[in-house]
Amino acid sequence: MADGNNDIEQQIRDALDVPCLKPGAMEGLKPFVAAPEHQEKLGFPGELVPDWKEKALAKMKDLAEKNRAFQVYLDACVKCGACTDKCHYFLGTGDPKNMPVARQDLLRSVYRRYFTFAGKYFPWLVGARDLTEEVLQEWYSYYHQCSECRRCSVFCPYGIDTAEITMAAREILDHVGVGQKYSNEIIGKVKSVGNNLGLNPKALRATLEDLEEDIEDDTGISVRIPLDEKGADILLVTPSADFFAEPHIDGLIGYAKVFHEAGVSWTLSSYASEAANFGLFIGSYENMREIALRIRKAAEDLGVKRIIFGECGHAWRVAYSFLNTLAGPFDFLDQNYPIPQHILEFTWDEIQKGTLKLDPSRNDHITLTYHDSCNVARASRMGDKPGGQFEIPRNVIKAVCNNYYDMDRDTIRESTLCCGGGGGLLTDDLMDLRIKGASPRMTALQQVTEDHGVTHMAAICAICKTQFSKVMPKYGYDMDSIVSVHQLVSNAIILTGQETEEDEPNEEEAA
Ligand code: SF4
Ligand code: SF4
Repeated sequence: MADGNNDIEQQIRDALDVPCLKPGAMEGLKPFVAAPEHQEKLGFPGELVPDWKEKALAKMKDLAEKNRAFQVYLDACVKCGACTDKCHYFLGTGDPKNMPVARQDLLRSVYRRYFTFAGKYFPWLVGARDLTEEVLQEWYSYYHQCSECRRCSVFCPYGIDTAEITMAAREILDHVGVGQKYSNEIIGKVKSVGNNLGLNPKALRATLEDLEEDIEDDTGISVRIPLDEKGADILLVTPSADFFAEPHIDGLIGYAKVFHEAGVSWTLSSYASEAANFGLFIGSYENMREIALRIRKAAEDLGVKRIIFGECGHAWRVAYSFLNTLAGPFDFLDQNYPIPQHILEFTWDEIQKGTLKLDPSRNDHITLTYHDSCNVARASRMGDKPGGQFEIPRNVIKAVCNNYYDMDRDTIRESTLCCGGGGGLLTDDLMDLRIKGASPRMTALQQVTEDHGVTHMAAICAICKTQFSKVMPKYGYDMDSIVSVHQLVSNAIILTGQETEEDEPNEEEAA
C-alpha cells in the first residue's frame, strides 16, 4: 500500500509538473466552424469577410479602448513564467502554445505590431508580428483550447487573466465571420426556444410530469415540479441538462424535494428554461445580455419575488457577477434575499434551520470527494463570508454523506483544475483535448481513491458533470461516478410522511 501511495503521489506530482514539450502537438486541432445561419442569428457575418484584417484590428482596438483590463493584460506581462505550468491543457498535451503566457502572446504579438510604438517600428525586438490568415487560424485553434477557467490568473503576480484574452480573441473571430459551431448554435437555440437543448415548452412540461411521477413512485409522496406558475415566490433557473441527462436530473429532483420540505412556492419558466449563458464563452456582451434579459422577463411575467439558480458553474458566474449589470435593477424582487441566490445557499440555510430531515447513511454506499468548478471557485462567491463558494458545497455534502475526503490541496478551491470541457469546449470535435485536459484532475481523483477509497466525485456544474461522465471511463471510473450535489441531498432527504425502511414492519412483526 505504501508503495502504491508513493506511486500515486509521484503520478500527481508528475501530472502537475512541466510535461515533456511537444511543439505543435495540438496545432491542427480546431472545433467545427459555425454555419452562416448560426453566425447571422447572433449578429455576426456568416463567413470570413473580405476585409477581415481591417475588421479584426478595428475590433481589437475597440476592445482595448473599452476594456481597460484587456489592454493592461496585453501590456503588463513580464514573462516571469509563473503561469506556464498552470494550465491543464498544457499539462495534458505538452504543447507549448497551451502555456497561458504563450496563448496570450498569440494575440499580444499582433496587438504590439499595430498598436505600440516599438511594435510598429522595431517588431523583431518586441516579438511583434503581422496579422496573417495563418495567425487567424492559429487563434481559432488555440483560443479554442482554453476553457477560460482562470487557474493561470491565480498564479500570475500581475493578475493577468488569460480567460479575458481568450474571450476577446473569440469575439474578434466572430466579428470577422469565423465563429465556433458548438457555442454559436447553442446561443441561437436559447434565443429561439429558450434553452440549449431546444426543448419546447410542451416537451418540457411532459418531462417534468414524468419526473413528478418518478418521485411519487419512489417515495410515495407527491412532490411538484411546477412550470410557468404565475404568482410563485421563487423562479428557479437551472441548466437545461437538469431536464434531460444523468446525473443532472437527479439534482433537479433534489431541488424539488428541498423546496417541498421548505414549504415554499416555486416555479420553472419555459421562457427562461436555461441557466447557461454561452454569451460569456464567446466574449459577446450583447449575446450575454440578451440571454440574461430572458430571465428578467420571466421573473416579471411570473410575478416572482426571488430568483434562484440551479447547479451550473458559468451560469452562476454570470448570475453572481453580471446579472444586475446585464438585466438589472431587480427592484421588483424581495430585497431581503440575495439577488440572485444559489440553490446551495438555499439548501444550506434550510439544513441550518433544521427544516430538512436527513439520513446521511443513505449515501453510505459511496465515498465522496468534491470537484470545485472553476467559475464558482474563481469567479463568484456564495453566502456572506469569503470562501463561502468552497465551504457551502462541502457543508451540504457533509450533512448528507458520512464518507467525504478532499483531493490534494493544490487541485481544489481557488487552485481547482478545470474538468477539461468548460468554456465552450464540451463538443465531440474536441474530445481528444477534453480527455487530455482532464488528466490532472483525474490524477488527483486517483490519489484519493488510492488513499481513502473514494468512489464518486460530486460537482455543481452541468458542464463538469457531462464532461466527467464522458471522460471518467477513460481513466478507469464508471460514467456514473460523477454525481450532482443535490442528487446526494435527494438520496438523504426523508420527506414528510415518507415511509422509511425503519417504519416498515419486519417479518416477525408482520406475522
Ligand atoms: S484560463 Fe484556464 S484553460 Fe485558459 S490558459 Fe488559463 S489555465 Fe489554461
Ligand atoms: S504569470 Fe503573468 S506576468 Fe508571468 S508570464 Fe504569466 S502572464 Fe506573464
